[in-house]
Amino acid sequence: MKRHHIMAVVLLVAVALVCTLAAREFMAMNQPDEIIPGPGVKTVGALSNYLGNLAGTSSNASVYYLDSGKPGATVLVLGGTHPNEPAGFMTAVVLTEHVSVLEGRLIVIPQVCASGFTCTDPLEGYPQSFSLQSKSKVRTFRFGSRGSNPIPEWPDPLVFLQYPSGQQLSGNETRNLNRSYPGRPDGTVTERIAYAVMQLIDREKVDYAFDLHEAAPEIPIINAIVTHEKGKDIAANALFTLETENLQFALEMSPVNFHGLSHREWGDRSAAFPFLMETSNPIQGRLRGKTDATLVLRGTDEKYKEAAQLGTMRITYELTGEPLARRVARHLRGLQAILSASMESAPEKRIVLDGLPTYEQVLEQGVGAYLQ
Ligand SMILES: [Zn+2]
Repeated sequence: MKRHHIMAVVLLVAVALVCTLAAREFMAMNQPDEIIPGPGVKTVGALSNYLGNLAGTSSNASVYYLDSGKPGATVLVLGGTHPNEPAGFMTAVVLTEHVSVLEGRLIVIPQVCASGFTCTDPLEGYPQSFSLQSKSKVRTFRFGSRGSNPIPEWPDPLVFLQYPSGQQLSGNETRNLNRSYPGRPDGTVTERIAYAVMQLIDREKVDYAFDLHEAAPEIPIINAIVTHEKGKDIAANALFTLETENLQFALEMSPVNFHGLSHREWGDRSAAFPFLMETSNPIQGRLRGKTDATLVLRGTDEKYKEAAQLGTMRITYELTGEPLARRVARHLRGLQAILSASMESAPEKRIVLDGLPTYEQVLEQGVGAYLQ
């Protein structure tokens, strides 16, 4: 055997080794995250209960029902509409694992865009997961992509025509759940998820529905509550309460002509009052530097700090960063304030949660302390 033959064999073996290791890491993202139902969870179901053709697919998200058995409001909380927005789905996981319901009913879907948790977005350098210390063990959660996994829907169209509005968006938005409502039962996978969520809202007679998000610090709609016209009084009252606690939230109205979004379509097409909440997440920002699991948890980025110090940020960016604990604490406190305001406007629709940690508790103890 000549020397260059040996080199070729060595190179081939090295390439095979790298491919095998990369494939293992890639495939590991298909392993679902462990979500441990807490004392409040009475039943666990799936989106396929609302649209049968999701059964057996990677998009069949789990649905957790926390039922007090007493009459009151039915509240829906979605996390993971965008699986690269961890504070949204971690807030939903805390509700599932730590909270009980004393009056009314809470339905939680922590990872509603389930297939989006099986991959990350190309060219972003995102970590595949991050870990938190709970009381007894290390809990690891996947960091996913903004949209559904592209494989079942491949290829994306050049232009995404939103159904049924016909609104045109860039092709990759076809996998964005928050452009796909109301969806359709025989549409793309993402449209089918949207359809199942709409069915759930109708069949379970949801009164108040929450969609928990995060966005880049430079996006104007952060630290915000976005609401449909019908929820504006409730949201405004909640905002006043939060303001007295020194928690600033911006009130944003859902644009009437922007179709496919949860706060628009749930509000127009169901009896539910929708609320979308956004926290500030540096890992989604374009200014960010090193992109790793530490950035998910600590939310500290030197370039954002510099931008804030130079006064170029339009939005308040905390110089100490935007840690996951603060982002989850904001979501939990915002949710609670909106529910209190909703009970003032409709006293017969009560929802009373037990075990919901306060803003300060989450900041002090961290998110892991409220996991099973
Ligand atoms: Zn989002």
